[in-house]
Amino acid sequence: MAGEIYKQKIMEFTRKGNIDRVKWLENIEKYVLTTYAERIARNDKSVMQELMLPNWVTWELLYDWATMKTQKKGTQCTLCGNYSEVGIDFNKKFICEYCFLKIKNMK
Ligand SMILES: [Zn+2]
Repeated sequence: MAGEIYKQKIMEFTRKGNIDRVKWLENIEKYVLTTYAERIARNDKSVMQELMLPNWVTWELLYDWATMKTQKKGTQCTLCGNYSEVGIDFNKKFICEYCFLKIKNMK
């Protein structure tokens, strides 16, 4: 399952008292932006040369995190195309909460 290695690493570093590494992992999105995460999830290893990463960050760890981050959760909204876990079924089509509220407020 995606995110497994990432979570294990956080637990491992917490146990060892390596707070700097725990903090880095918890704030990984500040160091590895979404566009990079998408490339990592596509197995584009050239990202490793472009990013300034600590030497203990392995490709395996990055790939695991990126897969988790870019994974689509929920159902795709018919109107906006975003994935959402909250919404309603309207004529057998899924509408996310955001779009539903938008429509409701227009009436
Ligand atoms: Zn929507």
